[in-house]
Amino acid sequence: MTRVELLSVGKRYPARGRSTTETVAVDDVSIEIASGEIHAVIGYSGAGKSTLLRLVNGLERATSGQIFIDGVEITGLSESKLRHVRSRIGMIFQQFNLFHSKTVFKNVEYPLVVAGTPRDERQARVLELLSYVGLEEYAHSHVEQLSGGQKQRVGIARALATNPGLLLADEATSALDPDTSREVLELLARVNREFGITILLITHEMDVVREIAQRVTVMEGGRAVEQGDVFDVFSAPQTDTTRRFVSTALPTVPDPEHLLALREKHRGKLISVTLRDGGVDQPVVFRTLADRGVGVSIVHGGITDVGGRSFGKLTLELIGEGVQVEHAIAALAQETELEVLA
Ligand code: ADP
Repeated sequence: MTRVELLSVGKRYPARGRSTTETVAVDDVSIEIASGEIHAVIGYSGAGKSTLLRLVNGLERATSGQIFIDGVEITGLSESKLRHVRSRIGMIFQQFNLFHSKTVFKNVEYPLVVAGTPRDERQARVLELLSYVGLEEYAHSHVEQLSGGQKQRVGIARALATNPGLLLADEATSALDPDTSREVLELLARVNREFGITILLITHEMDVVREIAQRVTVMEGGRAVEQGDVFDVFSAPQTDTTRRFVSTALPTVPDPEHLLALREKHRGKLISVTLRDGGVDQPVVFRTLADRGVGVSIVHGGITDVGGRSFGKLTLELIGEGVQVEHAIAALAQETELEVLA
């Protein structure tokens, strides 16, 4: 159980080569991660996610701001004190970062050897971990003989070996196919639930966020452009970047390009109506429009599950006289959350 707090954290890299401008990889980012939370940081390549992760495990030093782990400010710690903090942090990676020519057992045992754990304790702990991730019969297999999903499970067992309070996951499922990816995410969710381990994961895949995170920070150009509960951010994205991510995970929301294409095809007014858990009664939408003599066709949308709650959007084309359509929109706005797609 570990709490992480970033306060106006920045990281600048000095100019390199012929370039005279420094790179601002992380720019004034504040994130609070509660103990036992799964927090996802999502962004496109170059957004500053990996730098942020390296700042949290102390592999890089912030150039401004403060980072607290369980209330201890790590920003100014000496390397030896940082090593101690790091021993309470597990890491898993996109490319697994395992010793490929060693056995599964040796890989999981490695952090325990480094920590000076006695041999018989190590033996018991490794077997316990392998059984937890469902790989006990692979203990003496070489890592190179395993599938990608099995390798990542070894990575997770290794990360858990020293009982960390915080697990950092760097694109942990990006190299896996969707089914395997889901299995690994389920394992991470179980680790979080059963051991209360806080998880900070970075990803460029919104599905990862949707499936396991409780809170999310969206990064762009080094900045945190949006932040909050996953359901809230998904259901009401405030920036184009977030909208774009959301549209990849929710087939219910047209992305900006798709919206352009829809406009080409549908000349009527386009609106989007939000459907939430226990929220809008769909017949109300259609009745309100029909009562005002406005025709409607559904041009995009559906309902899906976000963090265990149902959420969806319908994009509707309204067909009718301008004034009637305006009145219908006004009436509908009294009933439900709607957005006129300009
Ligand atoms: P992401 O993980 O979101 O792809 P990164 O954190 O890797 O983003 O990179 C953010 C920015 O910082 C990029 O412009 C990248 O080129 C730059 N950057 C990352 N690491 C270094 C470094 N060691 N030296 C200089 N620039 C770096």
